[in-house]
Amino acid sequence: MTTNRTFTMIKPDAVKNGHTGAILNDIIHAGFKIVAMKYVQLTEKQAKKFYEVHAERPFYMDLVNFMISGPIVAAVLEKDNAIEDFRKLIGATNPKDAAEGTIRNKYAESIEANAVHGSDSNENAAIESDLHFSMYERF
Ligand code: GDP
Repeated sequence: MTTNRTFTMIKPDAVKNGHTGAILNDIIHAGFKIVAMKYVQLTEKQAKKFYEVHAERPFYMDLVNFMISGPIVAAVLEKDNAIEDFRKLIGATNPKDAAEGTIRNKYAESIEANAVHGSDSNENAAIESDLHFSMYERF
């Protein structure tokens, strides 16, 4: 069990707006170690699978289309209390509600184009990391 790991994506809006470096800097400065990382553009099939828990939500296809609209940076991060600490670092889903200084507060455009993903549980972090990285890609 890798309970000290979380999975993140820097979403297409933040990549397009040139925030990749600043976001990685915030992540590293908050004490996270990068265990795995890649710069890729998701396919529709991958994005649908990733967000399948939201399949019944009205915004599902908008979200999928947004997530495949440009490249993303996917990463596995390690730190004590990784899930909770990373959710705190990124802030609320809607950037309007995200606390001052959080990544979404600083870099997000909207509730959909909200700059970053962060796993919400250890179980989902493991599932999401396995979707994107083989064991040989984690260091
Ligand atoms: P998260 O855990 O903070 O990422 O939030 P959720 O798991 O609830 O939602 C997943 C992603 O769906 C969010 O990060 C947003 O990109 C998107 N999303 C959430 N709520 C909405 C919404 O009401 N409208 C739209 N268009 N997208 C949403």
